Amino acid sequence: MRTLIAGGGIGGLTAALSLHAAGFSQVQVLEAASQIRQVGVGVNLPPHAVRELTELGLGDALAQVGIPTSELAYYDRRGQLIWSEVRGKAAGYRWPQYSIHRGKLQQLLYDAVKARLGPQAVLTDRRGTGMQAAAGKGVGAGVAAAAAALQVQVRNHAGDTFEHSADLLVAADGIRSVLRQAVMPAQGLATNGWMMYRGITPGAPFLSGTSMVIIGDEHLRVVVYPIEPGVNNWLLVRPVDGDAGELGNWNREMDPAQVAAHVADWRFDWLDVPALIAGSEKAWLYPMADFDPIPQWVFGRLALLGDAAHAMYPFGSNGASQAILDARVLAWALARQGKGDAATDAAIDAGLAAYEAERRPVASAVQLANRRQAGDVMARISALVRQDAHGAAKDELKAVEAQYKKLAGFDAETLNQRASWSVEAP
Ligand SMILES: Cc1cc2nc3c(=O)[nH]c(=O)nc-3n(C[C@H](O)[C@H](O)[C@H](O)COP(=O)(O)OP(=O)(O)OC[C@H]3O[C@@H](n4cnc5c(N)ncnc54)[C@H](O)[C@@H]3O)c2cc1C
Repeated sequence: MRTLIAGGGIGGLTAALSLHAAGFSQVQVLEAASQIRQVGVGVNLPPHAVRELTELGLGDALAQVGIPTSELAYYDRRGQLIWSEVRGKAAGYRWPQYSIHRGKLQQLLYDAVKARLGPQAVLTDRRGTGMQAAAGKGVGAGVAAAAAALQVQVRNHAGDTFEHSADLLVAADGIRSVLRQAVMPAQGLATNGWMMYRGITPGAPFLSGTSMVIIGDEHLRVVVYPIEPGVNNWLLVRPVDGDAGELGNWNREMDPAQVAAHVADWRFDWLDVPALIAGSEKAWLYPMADFDPIPQWVFGRLALLGDAAHAMYPFGSNGASQAILDARVLAWALARQGKGDAATDAAIDAGLAAYEAERRPVASAVQLANRRQAGDVMARISALVRQDAHGAAKDELKAVEAQYKKLAGFDAETLNQRASWSVEAP
């Protein structure tokens, strides 16, 4: 089985490692960027994602670049604690939770892919632009899972075009996936009218030194967590002023001092928020964007994965994590058909159907839960806090977090006991 993965982000690279570990040797990643660079700011990986990377043999490497998150705490605008809970191993998980620089995580995965699958396993400056079933039928909604292999069209920055053959194309090309758009042209991105501003700042540890804090309310909030010793990652969320601009573009910059002005008086004895934000070299703005859960992830031999399948608001630390889970389940579902590289057409089709059946309901539920968390839940908690009902707000948050962990696949008991998605290579 020849697999092409379009997109060398966290989802695509984890898919390459997972397929390789499960016994598939003909796997190649096509990445649109000219080189893999350490871009982005922080991501948080709860224990369900860390488990999967650990089972891929990356536990030690992760421990070297991530900060084990020990606590999640909610504070009001005055810096008063609403509720906190322990996280990671201290909360009874068999695996830690990590806060990590997104670019370092991507680099770690990229290095592992090159080391295990060979230097040619990732081709950069290769943008997937479309695909066709080799039999000439095309690939789209409603096309039966035909036995024919695919021809995948690819372009580089110079405008040269290439064709690659594959038995399976994994679309891991992110929130603005052109491959998803090819099969679901009506599935556009939408914003909830909120803008996120993000940055990283060198600075002293705060609170436990490994805390993740959410400060504020439904109108204005700030999330802060360390991603390296002496480096804090921050995110400020507020309603968009005017036009949100381009959705799904992670690379728009702005002046951190302008962001800090929104929280000029948020100076607490445990953290000076405006100084933290103003201390960044750069800030990036990103309109909160997602799309409705989609009814189909597998279109013949095209399988959507990661943000291409389920872009979600980054509230709940699950964007990258759900992509990692997709990757592991895809490899597990295909490998369980038992044929490895010699997978028959029927085995590939059955594996893809099992992948979608296992992952789509979970990831769709997380998409919707993230909308609720960012919207209704914050509004309810904030209303309680404004009435000085901190006790009720605390109970509510505790219940919401417990429910969220269950639906996203990381309540401690279930995760600790769930069978592994590792498959012995045939
Ligand atoms: C530049 C960038 C910065 C980000 N910064 C943050 C951040 O700071 N914090 C955060 O929480 N999340 C960030 N994210 C998003 C986060 O990484 C994803 O939500 C999550 O990891 C899901 O991963 P993914 O692999 O599905 O998608 P992505 O991580 O978006 O990866 C998609 C990859 O596909 C490539 N690509 C796109 N189109 C094509 C194509 N047609 N053919 C081939 N390759 C293609 C992209 O260059 C990218 O490398 C960022 C994403 C990007 C691309």
